[in-house]
This record gives sequence, structure tokens and C-alpha cells, in this order.
Amino acid sequence: MNDKELKKWREAGKIAHKVLNYAKSIAKPGVPLLEIAEKVEKEVEKYGAKSAFPINLSINEVAAHSSPGHDDKSVAHGLLKIDLGVNIDGFISDTALTVDLTPEQEHKDLILAAEHALKEAIKVISPGIMLMEVGRIIQDTIATYNVAPVVNLSGHELERWKLHPGLTIPNYDNANITKLKGGMVLAIEPFATTGQGIVIDGKPSGIYKFIAKHNTRDAESRKILEFIEKEFRELPFSSRWLVKKFGTRALLSLRLLEQANALHHFKQLVEKTKAPVSQAEATVLVTKDGCEVLTKNE
Ligand code: MN
Ligand code: MN
Repeated sequence: MNDKELKKWREAGKIAHKVLNYAKSIAKPGVPLLEIAEKVEKEVEKYGAKSAFPINLSINEVAAHSSPGHDDKSVAHGLLKIDLGVNIDGFISDTALTVDLTPEQEHKDLILAAEHALKEAIKVISPGIMLMEVGRIIQDTIATYNVAPVVNLSGHELERWKLHPGLTIPNYDNANITKLKGGMVLAIEPFATTGQGIVIDGKPSGIYKFIAKHNTRDAESRKILEFIEKEFRELPFSSRWLVKKFGTRALLSLRLLEQANALHHFKQLVEKTKAPVSQAEATVLVTKDGCEVLTKNE
């Protein structure tokens, strides 16, 4: 990684951190998720950046992959995960936090469990540490709150234009002895739950990503697929973004392109026992002797 690249990784992290705090400030009970999403994505653009993926606003037992569509009517409530990413010229940051919008603040400890686990993981991340060790620290920290990590959700490496390349960073001791190396950019994202700690597929999310070119005879779909490939490459995007650009007929094209395996349509990820899930996430750069948190202020 050269200095110019490092600067962009840092910039993407700094903006994401600021925008996440902004998102937290407007995510009050009863506010439409659509309004939050639009405001937050506009805020990203104010910094001259783009969203690396549609903002995820997942509630209660939905752990991830929930993002409002163009006509979404739901409002913020319960245990809300806010997960967003910033893209500067393909350099991506990925960060998340959880807010408790219940009147009784009943999920306070569950949120602390994920945040504390993230903090402890960051403390130990350095070249040479094994993935299983990072996972064990996350798991053990979450266990001190008498809750469980979600074992089939994990952190991941980040590369330019790539959200989930290479390594996955487990949220439990998965016996993987692969060692971290200096220069890696990682998203660390513990999820904690009072349930079993396994997520299963839920409803379609309205979040898609490009898989392959497809020679459809439908001219409109062809145009839309070309736009997607050029604009997002293989980064996730929202059906809402396409409705904005092409109108609601884009939804038909998305369906056709999904059926043709040109696009992947993500499903919501829901805790198996319908128990609430919390999440905390930061993007870090593995340095010579530790790590630098990129999703932070300065
Ligand atoms: Mn994320
Ligand atoms: Mn992530």
C-alpha cells in the first residue's frame, strides 16, 4: 500500500465515522427508515464520497441486510443496527453501531456486549495473530454478558472495490490458524444475541450485486445492467437507487436480471430463534505492531 492509497483508506474511514454518528443522531423512534437512509446517503455525498453499499437498518432479530426500498413505510424502533460504508475511488470503509430505541432501554447490555467485543478484538489485532484467537476474544468477551456471538456472521478483509475478499474474521474460535499480516484492511464486526447465535435467510432485501454480464433481449434491462456494472462494479446497491435513476420500471428489470443470474439478490439475515441481535463494526488497518482504526475521527 502506497501513501496515496493509505490516504484514501483513511479518508473513507473518517467520513464513515462522521456519517455513522450523524445517522445515530437522526435515528429516533418513529422516524421512517426511508428518511434516515436518504438523509444519510446524502450526507455521504456532501463529503464528495459515495456509499459503498446501501445503508443497512436492521431491527431486532434481523441481524443484517435490511435496507429500505423506494416505497418503504417502516419506522425506526426496537434494537436498530445502523451499518454503512463509504467508497472513495474504490477504497472502502465499513462501520456499524446499534441503538436501543425501546422505551425501557432493555437491550443496553446486548449493545455493550458487541461494542466491548469489538474493543477487545482491536486491542489484539496485529501481524501474526491467528484468526481463531481474534474469534476467541470476541466470543469470550460476549460471553461475559451472558449472551452469544452470532457464529455464521463474520468480519472480513477489504480491498479496493471489494467488500468481502479474502479472509473472514470469525466471531468465535473456529480453529482457523491463518495469521493476520501487516497491510491488511479488515472490517471487524461482532454480533451478539440472546438467542442461539445462528442467522438464517429471511425476506429478499432489495440489496443486489452484479454477478455477470447477460445478453438480455430487453433493451431497458440491458441498459440497467450496463449502468450497474459501470457504477457499482461488484459492490452492493439498492433497488431504491435504481428507481431513482430509471423509475419504477427498473424493478421489473431487476427481477429479470436476478432470474438470469446476472444479479445476486441478498436476503435479510434473521436470528433463528427470533431473538434480538446487536452489532458493532469498525474498519482497521493491520500495522507493523498492531492496528490503526480507520473509522474514527482524526
Ligand atoms: Mn458493515
Ligand atoms: Mn462488514
